[in-house]
Amino acid sequence: MELIRTEMTPLERAKAYAAGEEVDRIPTTLSEGETIPPLYGYKMHDYYFSADVMVDVESRMIEDFDSDNAGMGLGLRTMVEALGTELAYPDNSVSYIVKPGMQDFSDLDHMELPDVRKDGRFPIITEAFRRLIDQYGDVRGFGSGLAGPFTTAAELIGTEKFLIATVKNKEEVHRLLQFTTDCIVQCCRDLNEMLGIKFMLSEPMGAKNLISKRQFKEFFLPYLEQAVRRMNEFQGSTGLHICGQTRDRWQEIADSGVSSFWMDNCESLKDFRDQFGGQVALTGNISPVDILKNGAPEEIETEIIRAIGEAGDNPMGYTLCPGCTTPMGTTKENMIAFMNAAAVYGKGARKGVMPKGMAGRL
Ligand SMILES: [Zn+2]
Repeated sequence: MELIRTEMTPLERAKAYAAGEEVDRIPTTLSEGETIPPLYGYKMHDYYFSADVMVDVESRMIEDFDSDNAGMGLGLRTMVEALGTELAYPDNSVSYIVKPGMQDFSDLDHMELPDVRKDGRFPIITEAFRRLIDQYGDVRGFGSGLAGPFTTAAELIGTEKFLIATVKNKEEVHRLLQFTTDCIVQCCRDLNEMLGIKFMLSEPMGAKNLISKRQFKEFFLPYLEQAVRRMNEFQGSTGLHICGQTRDRWQEIADSGVSSFWMDNCESLKDFRDQFGGQVALTGNISPVDILKNGAPEEIETEIIRAIGEAGDNPMGYTLCPGCTTPMGTTKENMIAFMNAAAVYGKGARKGVMPKGMAGRL
């Protein structure tokens, strides 16, 4: 399958879409991140520690799929690693935590904010960004994403210990959350100054499957709001991703100050659009595993028609994207099928109006 080439550059498209003008294709992102290196023959381990490999993978993604996003994700573990967490880096799968950076809340007494110039993998990632921006900065915007305050805190001390403390040791939990919020804001601010890139926050720990509405309101929301407010000072707007069930907390998410909500495929895009579409842009909702990885091209097409039909006219805009990270093992053919269906059915997109490509499809 050949990729359908579009007319506008990602930068032109982003600018026009934000201004409420018609664009050639609905904004479309492949949340490929750190799961794609094997597609180009690299071992995961080599990708994590080489700016050359990062640049090569990103450049080939740009050439092969031409999606609207570009740039290496900081993911869920770059920050905690820079704070002393021990990670394992297997050859053929994503990194995982071996030993949390904190054993006890008292460790906070002597912890310092990380320095993106020297800690963890930040310098490698920064170097790769510099080279990619040199090469493509005139035609595409670059961005990244990382774990938000709550997920970072849970990873830093260990999820179980953290969640127990939300009941038994609330003060220390707040102290840790303030620390992780400060880490995130400072690192994003420094990288924004150095590279001019924007960040979105990922909070898989914020879903209903993992924390109650009470925990969400008491511990999650205040630090999300604070992080977004402080990040907006240097980058203007900040998006949020939560995987899993979120419906019972949509109101709080919409009111938190986030500019966009990247939604899991287990939730209803249409219902969120109908209730909060005037407040927040939407992203996501295509099943990463069942559709993008395992679906036939016709199924991918059907799902894209469904998603655009539900949110393509969202007043604050819609970005077509899988509901979570693109899984490792997703074929080139399926990603091209995804991009091509976006080009066909998302043709002539404009905020608040159904794309022209959907004519006769609803
Ligand atoms: Zn996710």
